Amino acid sequence: MTTIQSNSITNNTCAMDDRPIPVAQACGYLLEQAHSVNETELVTLNKALGRVLAVPIISPIDLPVWDQSAMDGYAINSADLTANQTDWSISQRIAAGQASAPLLPHTTARIFTGAPLPIGANTVIVQEACQVNDNRMQLIDSTMSAAIKPGANVRRRGEDVANGQTLITPGTRLQPQHLALIAAVGIDAISVYRRVRVAIIASGDELVPPGQSLNAGQIYNSNSTLLTGLLTQLECDVLECGQVNDNRAATELLLTQAAANADLVIVSGGVSVGDEDHVRPAIAQLGTVELTQVAMRPGKPLVFGHIGTTPILATPGNPVSLFVTFHLFARPLILVMQGILGIVTPPTIPARAAFNWSKPDKRCEYHRARLEWTDAGQAMVQVFPSRSSAAITSLTWANGLVMIPPHTTLIEGDAVTFLPFYSPL
Ligand code: AMP
Ligand code: MG
Repeated sequence: MTTIQSNSITNNTCAMDDRPIPVAQACGYLLEQAHSVNETELVTLNKALGRVLAVPIISPIDLPVWDQSAMDGYAINSADLTANQTDWSISQRIAAGQASAPLLPHTTARIFTGAPLPIGANTVIVQEACQVNDNRMQLIDSTMSAAIKPGANVRRRGEDVANGQTLITPGTRLQPQHLALIAAVGIDAISVYRRVRVAIIASGDELVPPGQSLNAGQIYNSNSTLLTGLLTQLECDVLECGQVNDNRAATELLLTQAAANADLVIVSGGVSVGDEDHVRPAIAQLGTVELTQVAMRPGKPLVFGHIGTTPILATPGNPVSLFVTFHLFARPLILVMQGILGIVTPPTIPARAAFNWSKPDKRCEYHRARLEWTDAGQAMVQVFPSRSSAAITSLTWANGLVMIPPHTTLIEGDAVTFLPFYSPL
């Protein structure tokens, strides 16, 4: 296992001397450690939404499967127009779902959108340009015939997809439109990576599940619900390991069980260096602690390590710290583990501050923020009034985070970087 000796860490190590390292460096280290799950499973299309494709989708057919009409109208051979023909006998009628017969020379076929073009026809004249009398079709304005281009209103066989074409590459998270494309070429079951299994632990004597009554000093455990939701949105299997008291032996026992049964363990709370914080020494006892402090606010006392081969991410207990560190570290890590190919770090949007920031921090700040567009189309960012990492309401108010670099003050209108909560991966 790679440890603190990793080059990316040694220059600015935190685990050796507890000096916080920059967010990008810490995230880079996590991603270096990440292994994608290799096991695949075959799933039907209706079970594949959100899963990550493991094997390329190669089309077994052309799409369209045959030349077809793109409009309701009349199919002709464009050579008739060149020969100044302006009316045609209607020799057949072809609706979508019907087979067509070859077009008799110098006749037209009444045809509808999605119907197969008859052999011998290459152009469809839209019905609005035609009039019909006694089973003959004429152009309403015969001078328009020169404007009708050969191939007009025809979708050619294979113009969208060619037989043998690679449609979707492995490492893609399957969205409804991917599944529709797969269905359109007739495939009903596909190979995806198995789900990543994430064990979650809430650490803290004070925690009580919602629905029970609170005794003095107790609070409701909201982090387990938060993590379950975040992981479910990412299509992970969640192994809910419940709450563990601020007790070293109990923490070690639960961590051991969680690490043995999951691909990744996320612990919230008990991660600092106080007398009641047992997570970090427990991980060190059972495995390795490779990263302990990140130069960010909130979320500084983040811990990353391994127990056996299972990565362990331990975040501060405040809900906002958990949410922010999940967004910046857990999510990219999980995306790599899921087999996603591409940029896994959170996307950013350039915007302008709609606020003043007069209290710089030596750490990089990820403040809860809300992106809105002005009538002129300018992306403006507002910030939540409280900096408290316990303010859980800030998470339902915000639609992302604004990144404020260390030692930075801002005035309204300054350029800022916004990280939306929702991303295409
Ligand atoms: P800790 O990181 O254990 O020092 O906890 C920091 C703060 O987060 C404390 O106020 C805890 O009570 C709170 N906290 C810890 N775990 C949770 C949890 N699962 N749900 C809600 N709040 C929590
Ligand atoms: Mg605690």
